[in-house]
Parts: sequence; C-alpha cells; structure tokens
Amino acid sequence: MEGRLRWSNGRAMPEATPEDRFARKRWASHAPHDAIPPPVRVSWNALWKHGQPGDVPLVPASTYPSERFVDLDGSHGEGGGQILRTALSLSLLTGRPFRMTSIRANRDQPGLRPQHLKAVEAAAILGQAEVTGAAAGSRELVFRPGAYSPSDLTIDIGTAGSTSLVLQTLHLPLAMRAESAVRVVLTGGTFNPKAPAHPFLEHTWRAYLAALGLPIALAMPAAGFYPRGGGRLEAWIEPAMPKAWVQTGRGSLRRILGIAGVANLRDDIAGRLRDRALRRLRLLGLTANVEIEAVRWPSPGQGAALSLIAEHEGAIPATFVGLGQRGKSSEDVADEAVDQLLAFEAVDQAAVDPHSADQILLPLALAEGRSIYTVSQTTDHLRTNAATIGAFLDRPIMIEEPSTEGQPGRVMVG
Ligand code: AMP
Repeated sequence: MEGRLRWSNGRAMPEATPEDRFARKRWASHAPHDAIPPPVRVSWNALWKHGQPGDVPLVPASTYPSERFVDLDGSHGEGGGQILRTALSLSLLTGRPFRMTSIRANRDQPGLRPQHLKAVEAAAILGQAEVTGAAAGSRELVFRPGAYSPSDLTIDIGTAGSTSLVLQTLHLPLAMRAESAVRVVLTGGTFNPKAPAHPFLEHTWRAYLAALGLPIALAMPAAGFYPRGGGRLEAWIEPAMPKAWVQTGRGSLRRILGIAGVANLRDDIAGRLRDRALRRLRLLGLTANVEIEAVRWPSPGQGAALSLIAEHEGAIPATFVGLGQRGKSSEDVADEAVDQLLAFEAVDQAAVDPHSADQILLPLALAEGRSIYTVSQTTDHLRTNAATIGAFLDRPIMIEEPSTEGQPGRVMVG
C-alpha cells in the first residue's frame, strides 16, 4: 500500500525517483559493536554547531556529505515501531534517506499504525521529505529528507495512539536545529500500554533530558486513554545540543512518589490503587518515604493508572506505571507498577530503568564525548536501537550483559 503525503497547501509531495540506488546494508545481529555497518562517516562538524550556540548558522540537512541510502529491516530484533522512529529522527538529523521493509513485523498488527503514520507525516513536513509508502498498514517506506527548519507543530493522531512516541521522534531534530524554543501540541493517547505514559515523561524522561543538557517543559491538559483518545500533550522544546553522561551506580532509595489517577471513573478506584500499592510496599519493609497522591484527570474518555516514581540518592528518578483496562482489577493495576519497581530495586547499582535505557541512547549517540551508564535490564529495545543508530552513525555503542543475576548491565557510547 502506498500513499502520497501532501504539503499543508494540499500539493502532493513528489514520489521518490526510481533511480534511487539503495546502498544495501546488512544488519548483523544485535551485538552493538559488530552490528555497526561499514563505517559511513557522518561529519560531526555538520551535526554540531561550532563554538557557542548561535555562532554559526545551522547547516541545512541537504548539504550533509552522506546521501547514501540506509536500508533497514523492520523485523530486526525487537521488530517494533522504535526502528522507524529512530530512523526518522536520524534521517532528519543526518540528511540520509532510508528505506525500511517489514515495518513492525513482530507486532500483532504489523505495518504503520496511525501513531507511526503521524510520526512519518510530521517528520516529512518538518524535513520537507519525499516519502513513499506512508499509508495505514504499509510495511514499506522510503523517506528522503530535504532541508528543514524547525517550526511549531500541531499533530492530531486521530486515535488513542501514543502522543509521547510521536513527540520523542521529533524531539531531537527540533531541539538540535531550532534557533528559538519550539512548541509541539499533540492530541491522542497519553496513557498507552508499551509506551511512555505522561508521568514517565514528566518525572523521568524530562529529568534525563535535563541531565543531558536538553531542557523541555511538558503539560498534559487532558489525559487520553484507549479507545477514546483525545488526550493532549504539550511540549516546549528549547534549542540545545545533547551532552555526554556518565552514571554507573545509584544511591539508596530516598522516596517513592505515587500518582493514583482516574478519569471519569469512581474516585474510590484511585483510593484502591493507592491502598494496594502502599500495603505491598509496606509488607516489603521498604524504609523509604512513600507518598501516593490520588488525582482526577480531565479526559474525554475513561481510564485509570498508578505511577510510582522511585527517587534514589544521586540518580535520575525511575517511573513505573500500571495501566487500567476494562476487566482488570485496581489491585492488578497497582501490582503491575509495584512489580516493575521491585524488579528495578533488585538490581543493585543499576542507574537507569529498562525503558529509559533505550530512550537515552539516541541523544547520547549524538553527543560529543563518551557516555557510560548501568541498566537494570538489557532489553531487545536497547539492542535494536543500538543497531538502528549504528546503521546511520559511525559511533561505537557497546552493551555489556549483566555478569550474574542481580548485577546491572552496562552501556557505553563513544
Ligand atoms: P516499540 O515497541 O518498538 O514501538 O517501542 C516502544 C518504546 O516505548 C520503547 O522506547 C520503550 O522503551 C518505550 N516504553 C514501553 N513501555 C514503556 C513504559 N511502561 N514506560 C516507559 N517507556 C516505555
């Protein structure tokens, strides 16, 4: 299935030309150092502003030295939407076009879902890209970016698809190229299974971005849940370049903050989420201070979630979310968040939670200098993201598996 994208004035974007030669790139399995394809030197001077921000005008993407196609197999590793999202971000930033086959091959409904389609469309508008294959269900996509200059964006996913994943796709291309703050407004889901929920973005992602020198402000004026959607996520992104980051341990657990929230459901559900989490955390004898707040979110739909934010001495807070759904008890929702928190606590010296581990890899790969961090789990998302980054950038990424149970894994970049 192929569709044409349109500019905002209704004009169809040109199709990619048939003479596009796809420099075939083999994806080795995941081991990050040997997963990096034959070196393609992306000029770091081109990616970076020289000297102080603002000294030198930004180089338009189309003038980057490498025009070589990146060929991606979407069934590789995790085989989900992350391969596409990372490819979109890096294509905009490096100017390298890519072709992707077998998009989201390992998911129940493979191909482009509305959330992925919106990410492609927004990236195409931002990067004045030529795109083929941008249609619901499409399993193949060609994306060829042109010059771009960041601007404010308003994106309505049109379903309950994840707003946070679309924001994460656009975030670095906007932050690293903008000359003044950019505002992005997204409508869709703000609480989705298998995606960052708003409390995770607010308490964990934002804190990582601050540590990496990438200031962002976020607001959620309305929560969006499946199936109704209609949540709203707003982001103000400041122009900035990512910095390297080193964190190889964590101090003691100081506090657990909780948010037990409901939208258009009985208030006692929030109370049950809170009580179950408190009871389990107390039974475990956690000495840390636990404070769980019950809140009501405005939303066009119904939903419930419990977020637990674990604050360790000298580390970025880790957020774990249990998400409600029809037929699932409040107790099960609370257990989902508590179990994730316990799994993280069980790995001494893990600085980074399993989800942030794959999400901070891209900014760190784009930062000058070497980064090292310990993780509670080395996931397929982490390995797959390392391979996708390696397909675009000549940047060594090494993932060290934990030596024994209870030990952290380690990620080294640069
Ligand atoms: P994919 O499954 O390939 O579409 O990628 C999903 C992305 O969402 C990955 O970056 C995951 O780390 C992230 N993610 C999944 N579940 C969570 C969660 N509970 N909290 C935060 N991030 C998540």
